[in-house]
Amino acid sequence: MNPFSTKEESKMSLNELRAAEAKLLVPTYDRNAVLFERGEGVYLFDNHGERYLDLLSGIGVNALGYAHPAIENAIAQQSRKLIHTSNLYFHAGQAELAMRLTERSGLDRVFFANTGTEAWEGAMKFARAHAGLLRSEGKQIGTKFLALEHSFHGRTYGSVSTTHKAKYREPFAPTLPGVEFVRFNDVADLRDKFSSDVCAILLESIQGEGGIRPLSKEFLATARELTASTGALLVLDEIQAGLGRTGKWFAYQHYDILPDIATLAKPLAGGIPLGAILCTEEVARAIHPGMHGTTFGGGPLACAVAIAVIDALDRDCLLENATTVGGYFMNQLRSLQQKHASILDVRGIGLMIAAELDSAELGKIVVRKMMERRILINCTSDTVLRFLPPYILTRAHVDQAILALDEILADAAAGHQAEQNTTLAGGHSRG
Ligand SMILES: *Cc1c(COP(=O)(O)O)cnc(C)c1O
Repeated sequence: MNPFSTKEESKMSLNELRAAEAKLLVPTYDRNAVLFERGEGVYLFDNHGERYLDLLSGIGVNALGYAHPAIENAIAQQSRKLIHTSNLYFHAGQAELAMRLTERSGLDRVFFANTGTEAWEGAMKFARAHAGLLRSEGKQIGTKFLALEHSFHGRTYGSVSTTHKAKYREPFAPTLPGVEFVRFNDVADLRDKFSSDVCAILLESIQGEGGIRPLSKEFLATARELTASTGALLVLDEIQAGLGRTGKWFAYQHYDILPDIATLAKPLAGGIPLGAILCTEEVARAIHPGMHGTTFGGGPLACAVAIAVIDALDRDCLLENATTVGGYFMNQLRSLQQKHASILDVRGIGLMIAAELDSAELGKIVVRKMMERRILINCTSDTVLRFLPPYILTRAHVDQAILALDEILADAAAGHQAEQNTTLAGGHSRG
């Protein structure tokens, strides 16, 4: 077989791919049985040409949807010039991109990494290095981290050590020592666990994987006040919520506070891997050449695409769109909640939205039935339907999703009712 052939017959079918992957890949993923070939706008197309409305956008990555001309052009042009140089030399992209990120964030400096977890690891290292600098200047400050219940920060060691769910951490024990978890939005518990032993409080402004849970204003304000009182750092993970998804460039801007460090990744370079650590001048004081680095991070291609993404978000007013279409989406979900007792809660901000259901089983059914209707969503934390659509979503797309959800939840409730009736009548379950 010619490996360079593009002929149809040389392609593996979905079933062949499944069999090959089952044999060849480390079994980390339980994939949905669909084979995507291309995308356009908010839609993905599978190998049969079937069109899917994508309300997950590659887990919050494809902010501009698929095949956006700004991204296509940036990749095409930059790939002809320079893809990689390493961080031993200058290229035009990092300063240009850092200018855009610092202007919008209120933070002073940037380090470019490749992924979310790598940005988070770097942020933790910066916090430890900063505390070390303060100790060398005679301040009393320890090395402990406070993280939060339901948190998710990634899969590498530091990140997984600060991730709350035991199933992610325990198989890899011992994880990083010196991490303590605080109860979600529990101000008293935060005050209780904070001391001069703590070098940083680590939080997602709005928790993603943990079920789209926003921090309370009081909780975040308390974290800011406590850290400021000792010189410890407030580190905010904006990898999922940052860069416009909530209708503001950074989710912490809904809270009128400024962190010492913020991490970014998912939508930053429109699907090309790129992460970033943003920090204050005070934090950067602790870092010197050679202390931290990366071979690939902040390469010319990723930076060129990220610049194009940010400029497109501005030009097409997509943060405003996230606010208005996201608000409409939440209102429509709240109306559904009036009709369906199985929806316990609707929450979120901008286009980071959740509908919490009353059972994990129903969560699985809804995701599967939505997929049968060619709409992609995800269920996180067992019972939380999560919507992270591209920022180019329109009300018509929302209407399509709401109609499908309405029918699926009604069917599920009717099925449930029928089952209960047969049980009450002493009969057997429906054939
Ligand atoms: C996805 C995510 C990460 C990890 O990012 P990766 O690029 O998968 O390493 C970290 N924190 C948050 C809040 C995330 O949503």
